[in-house]
Amino acid sequence: MTTVAIVLALLITIVGVALFARAVARIVGVIKVGQPTLGRGDEPGRRWRNLFVESFGHTRMLQLSGVGAAHWVVFIGFMFLFLTLVTAYGQLFDPAFALPLIGHFFLYEWLTEAITWIMIVSILALMAIRFLGVGVGKGRFFGSRTWQAVYVELTILGIGLCILFLRALEHQLPETGGRFHFPLTWFLVPGGLGAETIATAIVVLAALKIIISMAWFCVIGLNLTMGVAWHRFTAWPNIWFKREASGRPALGAAQPVNVGGTPLTMESIEELEEDALEQLGVGRVEDFSWKGLLDFTSCTECGRCQSQCPAWATGKPLSPKLLVMGLREHAYAKAPWLQAAESARAGLPETVRAEAERPLVAAGAPDAAAQAHGGPIQVAADGAVGVIDPDVLWSCTACGACVQQCPVDIEHVDHILDMRRYEVMVKSEFPEELNSLYKGLESKGNPWNLNKKGRMDWAKGLPFEVPGVGTDVEDLTSVDYLFWVGCAGAFEDRAKKTTQAVAELLHTAGVTFAVLGKNETCTGDSARRSGNEFVYLQLAEENKETLTEAKAQKVVTTCPHCLNTLRNEYRQLGLELDVVHHTQLLNRLVRDGRLTPAAGPAGSAGGRTITYHDPCYLGRHNQVYAPPRELLGGIPGATVTEMPRHGTNSFCCGAGGAQMWMEERIGTRVNLNRTKEALTVLGQSDRAAVATGCPFCRVMLSDGVTAEQADGRGENVEVLDVAQLLLESVRRGEDVETPSTAEEQPEAE
Ligand code: SF4
Ligand code: SF4
Repeated sequence: MTTVAIVLALLITIVGVALFARAVARIVGVIKVGQPTLGRGDEPGRRWRNLFVESFGHTRMLQLSGVGAAHWVVFIGFMFLFLTLVTAYGQLFDPAFALPLIGHFFLYEWLTEAITWIMIVSILALMAIRFLGVGVGKGRFFGSRTWQAVYVELTILGIGLCILFLRALEHQLPETGGRFHFPLTWFLVPGGLGAETIATAIVVLAALKIIISMAWFCVIGLNLTMGVAWHRFTAWPNIWFKREASGRPALGAAQPVNVGGTPLTMESIEELEEDALEQLGVGRVEDFSWKGLLDFTSCTECGRCQSQCPAWATGKPLSPKLLVMGLREHAYAKAPWLQAAESARAGLPETVRAEAERPLVAAGAPDAAAQAHGGPIQVAADGAVGVIDPDVLWSCTACGACVQQCPVDIEHVDHILDMRRYEVMVKSEFPEELNSLYKGLESKGNPWNLNKKGRMDWAKGLPFEVPGVGTDVEDLTSVDYLFWVGCAGAFEDRAKKTTQAVAELLHTAGVTFAVLGKNETCTGDSARRSGNEFVYLQLAEENKETLTEAKAQKVVTTCPHCLNTLRNEYRQLGLELDVVHHTQLLNRLVRDGRLTPAAGPAGSAGGRTITYHDPCYLGRHNQVYAPPRELLGGIPGATVTEMPRHGTNSFCCGAGGAQMWMEERIGTRVNLNRTKEALTVLGQSDRAAVATGCPFCRVMLSDGVTAEQADGRGENVEVLDVAQLLLESVRRGEDVETPSTAEEQPEAE
C-alpha cells in the first residue's frame, strides 16, 4: 500500500511540475503578445516597498475587513505551510523525517499547527461568505466560475486537514517530544496504535497531501485562465508593475494614448503615418499593453469591483469583473492565432480561427451581465458577436470604484478608456449625443456650446470686482490664486451659485484672485473620458498656452474634473500647477481664522441636517475626503450624517466618464439610486441638505431630488455646494442673496 502511495505521489509530482512549467511558459507567451507600455519600471525601490506592504499587509484586501483578514491567513498559510509539503516528501521515505534544524523546534511546530487551524477556519469562513453571502452578500460572485473557486477552497481545506492529522500521527512516534511539541493536534489520533500502523498511516497521508497539492498544479496547468488560482503567482508582478510607483491605485490622471510605447501628443498626431492611426486606442485584444494582458490574467473573480460598480448596481450590462474575465478568455483563446506564423494559421482549430475573427467591441457579446439584468442579447447586422458589447463600454462612469477595490491592482478604467478611444478616433462609433459635446468643445470651448462672452456673467451683480487676467491684472503674479471657474461654474445656473459663493468667501477672507474670463476653455475632461483624445489635446494645448502666458502657478477650482485635469493631466504636457479644490482652500481659511462660521437664527444655517456626497473625482481620484467634512462639521449647530456608501466606498452620481452628456437608457438611473440613499439618512428633519463639491454631482443630485419630490419625498431637502453652506453660516444665518443670472444666460448657438 505504501509503495502504491509513494509511486502515485511521485508520478503526479512529475506531471504537476511539467504541466505547471508549460502553463507558465504559455502565460508568459500570451502576455508578450501585448504592446509596449508606458513607465512601468520606474522607481524600483518604491515598487518593491509597495509590493511588500500590499502583499504582506493586505492593504487593499482589508478594504473588506473580514474577508481580508481571512484571506490574509490563507495567504500566509500558503507560503509558510509550503515547508510541510517538503516534509511530506521526506516522510514518503522516512515517516520520522523532520526538516533539518527547524523540524523539531517548538516555535516552528507551534506556528505550523496554529496557522493550519486558523487557515482551516478562514477557508470555511470564505466558503460561507461565497455560498451564504455572510457579511457582504452573494451578488459580487455573480458570474464568477464557482467550480474553480470551490476546487481551490477544497484543496486548501484538504491540505490543512492532512497537515493536522500528519502532526497528530507524528506525535505517536517515539522521541518526538510529547504534547509540548503538538499542543493543537495531539488529541486528533487515539493513542495506542502500533508502530507499523503509524508509519504506514504517515506515508499514506503524506502521499495524499502531495497528491492533493500536485493535482492542484495539474488542474491549474490545464486551465490558464483560472484566475482564482493563478493570482497567487501573477498578483506579485501585477502589483509590482502597477501604474503608479507611489503605490496609489490607477486613478486620477488618464494615461496618454500609447502609440507603440510613446505617448500621443499634438505634434506626434501630425507625424503619424496613415496606417498608424489604426493604433490609436485598443481595437483588438493584442492592442492592449502587456500589462493589460497581465491584468486580465490576474483577476481572481472576487467580484469586489462588481459589487461597487454603479453601472452594475443600476441594471446596466457593465460589470468590471465580467469585462475583465471576457477580455481574458478572448485573449487566451486568440493567442494561438496571434503566436502562429501567418502560413500556419489556416491549420489552427476552427475555434481558434473563429475567436481571431471576433471583433473586440461589437453588438451581441453574449455577456452574462446582460442576461443577469434581463437585457436583450443583440446580434450585430453582420452576425458578428463582439467580445464587449457597446452598451457595456458606454455604461462606465469612470468613477474608479472598481480600481479602488481591486485587490490585485487591475486598471479597469484605463482599459475601458482605451477601447473607447478606438471606437471614437478610429471607428467613429459612439453614442450620438456625444456629437453635441464635441461640437460645443471644438467650436465654443465648452460642452454647452455657449458663447465665450458669457463666461463672466456669473460675476455680474457681485458687490465687488472680480479681476480678469489681461484686463485688470497683467498676469497672476500679483494675486494669490487663479480662480479656475470651469464651464459649469460659468454657464450652469446651479453651479454659478457655487462660483459666486466661493468668490465671496475668498473676497471676505482677503484672498486675492483673478480669473481668465473668456480666455478660459474647457479642460477637456469629458472629451478625454469619452475617448476623444484629439479634442482633449486641442483644448489642453490651448489652455496650456493661456496658463503659461498668465504665469499661473496656484489655482483654485470648484470642479473636481477640472482639478483632476489641471493638476494631474496637464503635467503630462509639461505644465506643473499647484491646484486645490475650493473646499481645501476654504477649510484652510477657516482654520486660520480668516473665515468664521457662525450659528444663524434658529431654524436657519445651524439647524440643517447635512449629508455629504463624495464626488468621485475629488475623493477616489484625488483623495480629498476630509476638508469638505471638516468644513461642514465646523458649521455651528449643523448635524452632519454619513451615507452608508461614503469615502472610498462612495457611490457615483452618474455623471462622470462623459455620462453627463449621454442618455441613460438602460436600467434605473444612477442619480436616483444615490438620491434615495441620501434621503434615507436625512430623514424628516425640517431643513436638510445634500452637500457636495462638484457641479456635475450637484446637477445629478438636484435632478434626483426633484424627481423624488414629484413623488412626495424629500420636500425638506436641498442640494447645495459645501461653499454655499459655509457662506450661509459665515453670513450669520442670513439667507444667501446671490444675484439672479437667469435672464443673463447666453443663448445656445
Ligand atoms: S469606473 Fe465605475 S462605472 Fe466604470 S466599471 Fe469601474 S466601477 Fe463601474
Ligand atoms: S477585477 Fe479585481 S476586484 Fe474585480 S473580480 Fe477581478 S480581482 Fe476582483
